[in-house]
Amino acid sequence: MKNDHISILGAGLIGSLLGIFLKRRGLNVSIYEKRDDFRLQPSTSAGRSINMALSDRGWKALNKIGMGEVIAPHTIPMYGRRVHDEHGKTRLFPYGRENQAIYAISRHSMNRLLADEAEKEGVVFNFNHKCEDVDINTSILRFSLPGNQMKMENGGLILGADGAYSTLRSTFQKQIRFNFKQQYISHGYKELIIPPNEAGVFAMDPNALHIWPRGRFMLIALPNMDKSFTCTLFLPFESGKVSFETIRDERDLAAMFKTYFNDAYQLMPNLTREFFHNPTSSLINIECYPWAFNKCLLIGDAAHAMVPFFGQGMNCGFEDCYELNELIEKYGTTSWDLIFGKFQKSRKKDTDAITQMAMDNFTEMRDSIANPKFLIRKKIDARLHTLYPDEWIPLYTMVTFSDLKYSEVYLQGQLQEQILDKIMEDPMIGQNWENLDFERIIHQADSARAF
Ligand code: FAD
Repeated sequence: MKNDHISILGAGLIGSLLGIFLKRRGLNVSIYEKRDDFRLQPSTSAGRSINMALSDRGWKALNKIGMGEVIAPHTIPMYGRRVHDEHGKTRLFPYGRENQAIYAISRHSMNRLLADEAEKEGVVFNFNHKCEDVDINTSILRFSLPGNQMKMENGGLILGADGAYSTLRSTFQKQIRFNFKQQYISHGYKELIIPPNEAGVFAMDPNALHIWPRGRFMLIALPNMDKSFTCTLFLPFESGKVSFETIRDERDLAAMFKTYFNDAYQLMPNLTREFFHNPTSSLINIECYPWAFNKCLLIGDAAHAMVPFFGQGMNCGFEDCYELNELIEKYGTTSWDLIFGKFQKSRKKDTDAITQMAMDNFTEMRDSIANPKFLIRKKIDARLHTLYPDEWIPLYTMVTFSDLKYSEVYLQGQLQEQILDKIMEDPMIGQNWENLDFERIIHQADSARAF
């Protein structure tokens, strides 16, 4: 299969980055985006996360094309989780070793910087082009444009970076032997703001990701460059004492916040308006396969949308772009069958692993962080890493601060979890943990890896 004309559906984070990678390969790249040019809009993203955490895998892809240094000034390092208890007491849990951080960045800034660079390099952007249909046999794309106009284009090679509700993926669903699984989780989310304080500075520690874990629900906050925080409230849609359904009016809202998130409540002057005005969004997990048919390939959320509890959706999508680029480097720009085949085969097991880990991390974030036994477990995990930095690496570190394959991370994580489960069976572990035979634990892990 030979083709030097590439159409990318979606000018989101993945589509824009992918455009730069492909243009650098000397290909003709057109991006079709259903939205108006978001660079001309105010920096809001109704119903989408306003800011996000960028970590090593994302940086690796950005650095590959020299975008790391363009993006860096727009980020704020977060060196750990700052956990807030019900009384407003906080404690910082570092993410990794000194200076290891994840970086908060606004979705709008990231998207704008990537799209600007892509355009500068000659990628052609077509905004207000909503792809309605893809003929995967002829590569004909059908778009709806403003004013009820329709347009057909021959897309050449088509890359679907059109997100969790991908149109390209829905055309794949008409093909035989296409597997597809989607799951909405029981929780939704709503974004709220903690503005700068009266002195015009951050109202809380800006170099941490703040979490208020409350068992079945939680609040998190990430810093913004304008010295505000964007908070995300994760609640069940319905069921239980606290859910989106049970908050019917201002009184319910104030009572809930005063009970569970009082310190945050004191910093949210516009809570009522924001809560009742901002959308309640749902969270979806999507797995599908194959990702390629003929001259079409799914990438990013279109291929593997995950729940946001590991902060990896964008990072994983950026890693997709990196991996695809490596294959192009190896096989050239004429062997797309081969490249698509290799890409989906090697990448699928990794994205399955991270979607699963993202789901598992939900329980950890909302629940376990507040549980004393869990904290002992984390201390043992961290001590093992300090004593044997190469032999024992905590799961979070492997996901966030490495580029180990997610599938490998998942296996290592499972093995370490089993060992920690066993250790935690000791009813006196709270008192005894510092006297554990750490060397023996490492030998145990090594021999388990040998099988
Ligand atoms: P999208 O960002 O959804 O972009 C798809 C683009 O395609 C959009 O511009 C859309 O308008 C366009 N489009 C859609 N359909 C069509 C069509 N038919 N025709 C033309 N254009 C179309 N990830 C992280 O790494 N770190 C985080 O901290 C993080 N936090 C998150 C918090 C929340 C609450 C959520 C929901 C997600 C979070 N993510 C995070 C995940 C991240 O947002 C996604 O993985 C990422 O946006 C995927 O990028 P994408 O380009 O594949 O899809």
